[in-house]
Amino acid sequence: MKKTAAAVAVILVAVLAVFVFYDGVLNKTSDADFFSMNTYVSAKVTGYESDLCTAEIQKIVENLDTEILSRTAENSLVSQINKNGGGELDLQTAAYFSLLLDVCRQSAGAFDFTLGAVSDLWSFGSSPKIPDENELLEALSHSGYEKIVLSGNSIELQDKSAVLDFGASGKGISLDSIKACLETRDIKNAVVSVGGSSLLFGDKDFTVGIRNPEGNAGSYIAKLHIGEGCVSTSGSYEQSFEENGKTYHHILDPETGYPVDNGLVGVTIVSESGLLSDVLSTACFVLGVEKGSALAAEYGCTAIFVTEDKKIHVEGNSDIIEITDSSYTLAE
Ligand code: AMP
Ligand code: MG
Repeated sequence: MKKTAAAVAVILVAVLAVFVFYDGVLNKTSDADFFSMNTYVSAKVTGYESDLCTAEIQKIVENLDTEILSRTAENSLVSQINKNGGGELDLQTAAYFSLLLDVCRQSAGAFDFTLGAVSDLWSFGSSPKIPDENELLEALSHSGYEKIVLSGNSIELQDKSAVLDFGASGKGISLDSIKACLETRDIKNAVVSVGGSSLLFGDKDFTVGIRNPEGNAGSYIAKLHIGEGCVSTSGSYEQSFEENGKTYHHILDPETGYPVDNGLVGVTIVSESGLLSDVLSTACFVLGVEKGSALAAEYGCTAIFVTEDKKIHVEGNSDIIEITDSSYTLAE
């Protein structure tokens, strides 16, 4: 009798060990942190193929940056288009460009990815400064999305001095490529952040913080409770400098070439698409609460606008937001 009980116990322990082993293999988590696209990228992937995925994620972001979207990497597609005034695109990139042009039109030019020469004069990525007024006007005269002609897989810049800039969309494009890759892998869930844009992947309830505009990167004013999707934030606090008591930031009004000054400090967009979340956060920031809400609604996205006077406006699904800092209130 004693022998039987001992044998049963041994078998149970063995079964449990096998179960724990397989659970550890199937649910193992793998992390990656690196710098690319001028920003910090972090990935946390859970599932059987998590190691493989984190390596792939790094490759996807780095390749998109250096081979396609960067306008500083000499041989990237975008650098070549900027240099030659046009070029040929692969199918996927042509589809991204087409959606970007659609947002330019729908936002009446508040979003404009031909502002590269204007952005360069502000030098936010390196040593920011207020540009010379005449240089700014000259650069602005060469911008304008209407000068882009996209025909099938060919793109032409009708003004050869226009400079394409993917600063407001590259992070979202990365997330869409990463999502397409994760869908082919044995993965339970993943959270990938490329700067202020995040992909939440898998059948899980996720919580995402909205950063405190006045605090450091780890301090939040609200939580968003969402399922699978993408979340992007554009904030005036992300890249800025002060001169003579005035703050200048990197989100530019395409009409003037100067930083947008409309009482907003941040806009967060929730969307199924990484590209749309990234692009609309910038576009809605430029447009302000009223017109930005209309644009977000047009694309079926939820938009959260945070103002300088600590009001939070929500367009779309307001059930997802939980304000955690009592100095902020939900606007009616
Ligand atoms: P994001 O952080 O996604 O809002 O992108 C901001 C970046 O987009 C800036 O650093 C510029 O490179 C670029 N940008 C600034 N203003 C605009 C604009 N009005 N439309 C499109 N891109 C812009
Ligand atoms: Mg953006």
